[in-house]
Amino acid sequence: RMMLTTVLDQQKDHIRGVAITVQDITREVELNEAKSQFISNVSHELRTPLFNIKSFIETLHDFGDELNEEERREFLATANNETDRLTRLVNDVLDLSRLESDRTYHFTPVELTQAVDQTLRSHQLNAKDKGIELCQDLDPDLLPVRGNYDLLLQVFANLVGNALKFTPAGGRIMIRAYPLGVAASPGAPQYVRIEISDTGIGIEVEDQQAIFDRFFRVENRVHTLEGTGLGLAIVRNIVDKHHSKMHLVSEVGVGTTFWMDLEQYPSDETPICGSPSGR
Ligand code: ADP
Repeated sequence: RMMLTTVLDQQKDHIRGVAITVQDITREVELNEAKSQFISNVSHELRTPLFNIKSFIETLHDFGDELNEEERREFLATANNETDRLTRLVNDVLDLSRLESDRTYHFTPVELTQAVDQTLRSHQLNAKDKGIELCQDLDPDLLPVRGNYDLLLQVFANLVGNALKFTPAGGRIMIRAYPLGVAASPGAPQYVRIEISDTGIGIEVEDQQAIFDRFFRVENRVHTLEGTGLGLAIVRNIVDKHHSKMHLVSEVGVGTTFWMDLEQYPSDETPICGSPSGR
């Protein structure tokens, strides 16, 4: 983008010169393109369940008398499932757009034991139904990390939820957390590594980066109605907000491990520059 500005002579009202401002708007254009692509994807994704709901209601309305009780129930149950899917989609889209606004989040010391416990508790029933073992291995010396509790809970929930979707019966899902060595220099932040691993179907190398893109879903897989294709985009966004990055290692047919490093919350007990604490 180029802007021309005339510079006037204060006293004589003459044009003294012309100033040219050049501004690189490549990123702005890219962001706008990404936004319209997203809106078009969202509209497409919303249209499918809406169309299904409308068709089921129309059929019930026009031909309800010709259907037996069981058929009517089935139609209603499907319309209900589609409504749930629509709700999930709208919630995920709202979560993403909230994350992408410039809103600042409140970061506090987050106890990982508490967050992991809560995550496992809320997925335990689902795991039991599917015959999958849910376990945790948290280092006993774990200190709190700097983060937003609710956002981190969402990261764990999305990752464990995916692991449950893509792991066959008899499999195992594990959340591990351990401190990463010592700080690079006195006073420098220390990190905690968090891993969520499964013994599921795995992800091909060529898909491993794309799975974090919005609405990307690995092709040729039977996808249940559950997924929105936004879960990992939300995860990446939240982890970015925590000044960290999402990583994964995966082998088809063996399993997948997602991991991230979060900054440890400096505790009062941490000696600074080796000076005696006096306590
Ligand atoms: P979805 O709502 O479809 O799960 P996500 O963004 O959470 O969307 O995930 C994108 C895609 O990445 C999934 O559809 C799936 O194909 C793949 N994926 C995510 N997690 C795993 C996993 N633990 N094992 C295998 N594939 C996975």
